[in-house]
Amino acid sequence: MPQDERLERILEAAQGARSGGKPASYIPALAAADPGLLGLAVAWKDGSLRSAGAARVDFTVQSISKAFALAWVLEERGEDAVFSKVGKEPSGDPFNSIIRLETDRRRRPFNPFINAGALVVTSLLPGATPGNRIEGLLGFMSRMTGRDGLGIDAAVRDSERDSAARNRAIAWFLSELGLLEGDVDETLDLYFRQCAIMLCAEDLARAGLVLALDGMLPDGGGRLLEARNAHIVKSLMSTCGLYDGSGEFSVETGIPAKSGVGGGIMGAVRDRCGIAAFGPALDERGNSSGGIEALRLLSDEYGLRAL
Ligand code: GLN
Repeated sequence: MPQDERLERILEAAQGARSGGKPASYIPALAAADPGLLGLAVAWKDGSLRSAGAARVDFTVQSISKAFALAWVLEERGEDAVFSKVGKEPSGDPFNSIIRLETDRRRRPFNPFINAGALVVTSLLPGATPGNRIEGLLGFMSRMTGRDGLGIDAAVRDSERDSAARNRAIAWFLSELGLLEGDVDETLDLYFRQCAIMLCAEDLARAGLVLALDGMLPDGGGRLLEARNAHIVKSLMSTCGLYDGSGEFSVETGIPAKSGVGGGIMGAVRDRCGIAAFGPALDERGNSSGGIEALRLLSDEYGLRAL
């Protein structure tokens, strides 16, 4: 059977899984997303790309941006700058939880993918002005995805900015702990912008492939990331990428991945392929329910388990 047809079949089989979920509504602009959309993309090591369904529909990356920001800050600022302020352990709590920042004796975010850790990483984005800092991240994401001229969904950014009491509380508490570099409001503003960057599943599959190739671009395109930094990002994806759903996702797919409340999931299968799914209907942990099912079936179909 041709590959695209195999992917179509997987999507068809996964469609049923999304029926329980619905789009995120705590960011009002995300609630308007069509819960029926589902897309799947695979970028293979040989440079070929296969996709099915809504794989070219742009959506806001939300928390998937945290994987890109981490990789970029590791490249530009080094490992110590990040891990002197953020841990490497799963928290077992929801992505936007604040509670352990005060109760844990270390008083620092558990990992760079929960919102608290991601806000610290965003505060470390290099650049002299907010404009430079977001442009730097966008340029890096263009190189990872192979897509020029990436845009930001201003309506989603504004909607998050205007409904972000919890993220503001987290950021100010981080500031009190001495963990946020620079201006708190500037960090929050940059965070809302990075979350509203628009990509499609095909772009995310291509970026996942760079991670899968330990930082190399396919087709002899050269090195984009230090291998060590690619390893760090993938390792944290496998333990913390789907928050309090990371363990279950790992059991079902065996693939390191990062999700976002826009409905995207990006994964990396070492030395084989980058993968991505998009489906805005979310489960109760804020992960794409159809996307998880599609990736579970994809992993079985192609034997993609790394674990
Ligand atoms: N922008 C979202 C937030 O901070 C990202 C969360 C997510 O995708 N899990 O709430």
